[in-house]
Amino acid sequence: MLLPNRRKLMQGSGALLAAAALPSRLRAAALPRVVVIGGGFAGATVAKYVRRWNPQIQVTLVEPNPAHVSCILSNLVMNGALTMSDITLRYDTLRTKYGVSIVADRAVAIDPVARQVRTQNGSRLPYDKLVLAPGIDFDAIPGLDSAVLPHAWQAGPQTLALKAQLAAVPAGGSFVLAIPPAPYRCPPGPYERACLVADYLKRNRRAGKVIVLDANNDVVAEPHTFHTAFQTTYAGIVEYHPATVVEAVDWSARRIHTNWGPIQADAANIIPRQRAGQLLAASGLLGSDPATRWAPVNPLSYESRLVPDVHVIGDSQGTGQPKSGHMANAQAKVCADALVRYFAGEAPDPAPVTASACYSPITARTASWLTVVFAYDPVSGTMKPVPNTLAEAPAPSSEHYEGMFGWAKNLFADSFS
Ligand SMILES: Cc1cc2nc3c(=O)[nH]c(=O)nc-3n(C[C@H](O)[C@H](O)[C@H](O)COP(=O)(O)OP(=O)(O)OC[C@H]3O[C@@H](n4cnc5c(N)ncnc54)[C@H](O)[C@@H]3O)c2cc1C
Repeated sequence: MLLPNRRKLMQGSGALLAAAALPSRLRAAALPRVVVIGGGFAGATVAKYVRRWNPQIQVTLVEPNPAHVSCILSNLVMNGALTMSDITLRYDTLRTKYGVSIVADRAVAIDPVARQVRTQNGSRLPYDKLVLAPGIDFDAIPGLDSAVLPHAWQAGPQTLALKAQLAAVPAGGSFVLAIPPAPYRCPPGPYERACLVADYLKRNRRAGKVIVLDANNDVVAEPHTFHTAFQTTYAGIVEYHPATVVEAVDWSARRIHTNWGPIQADAANIIPRQRAGQLLAASGLLGSDPATRWAPVNPLSYESRLVPDVHVIGDSQGTGQPKSGHMANAQAKVCADALVRYFAGEAPDPAPVTASACYSPITARTASWLTVVFAYDPVSGTMKPVPNTLAEAPAPSSEHYEGMFGWAKNLFADSFS
């Protein structure tokens, strides 16, 4: 895992706060309090690393689910290669090894003046620093009900519902997969899913079709890999339609309305357009322009540019870095480092570096990968891709398929244990 370049790790009794350097409102407080909302890759990692780097800081993680179900590898539950338990990550180690307090509740409001988080069960959690990591929310599509047609772009019960739909595709039937406009969670993910649906139909001799409706003008990530897969491995099975937007769904008639006209389908996976988790808009973290979908933050610390002492990491932030679990983990470490320095009266690391990797199974035995490194550009104040670091596997292979599990195991462990 990529670690931020920390100049000083606080150690042992030397980790005691540099009280004289603290902001005046914190000097009287017993111990600094960090509240984290959301226990996905971003939230779990920041909670763990703040505690690991300075156990003097109290960290409370607010998350309604008893465990996190990873989107990463979830397409392999859809095709039967893995089970839900393989992608279910528990919070026990965060609590027992790192001393993170876990509050099993949903945050419903933030009061940035009183510095409190209100939860669904009525608790009020005070904070000195708040980290928001609630992931994504979805735009509504007229007629689309995710209880009937699961997007499965958040893993959990919808993953199994999608698996059941795939298993029920009739012989010669059509499976429509709709991709939203970028930016969305996991740039290669929908194309990977299209490949695995096609692979499933091929292996089970269903002679079906996978119709990919892409709202983007071309494949968003790994175009060489996915165009090659669609045109060769899945020739005659995958039909790819760029610049095709789903406008409405009439599932009682099995009809999907697009900007080009209606399409009939036997099964469908429509992934809606995405934006930051709902709590962000409600808390003023997206500003007053309703077109803003992701939270503007300072990438040195991930502090909101709009609400002081509130930091936003993972898929909800709007720095232009890819929305991936690997990237969420990297941003969480930059943020944890900045929080530890803040409570020690220090400025954030002026030169953070982050990275992302996505592995994509292309068949039941082969996978591809995509990586990129980002570095802080002090002139623009933004994170920019480091030249020549954007790379994709030259071709899918069984070695990459095996490598995918080692990579995921490391990421899961670094975030949750
Ligand atoms: C099919 C698929 C494949 C993928 N493959 C890869 C891959 O190969 N590599 C990779 O790096 N990434 C991959 N990703 C992307 C990755 O899953 C996401 O980028 C990552 O999960 C983002 O982490 P996050 O912590 O921001 O959000 P999430 O993982 O969504 O976590 C958000 C958490 O916040 C909680 N929450 C939400 N609202 C509240 C609230 N109000 N109060 C309290 N808690 C709340 C939720 O319950 C959830 O646990 C894939 C995604 C998909 C869909």
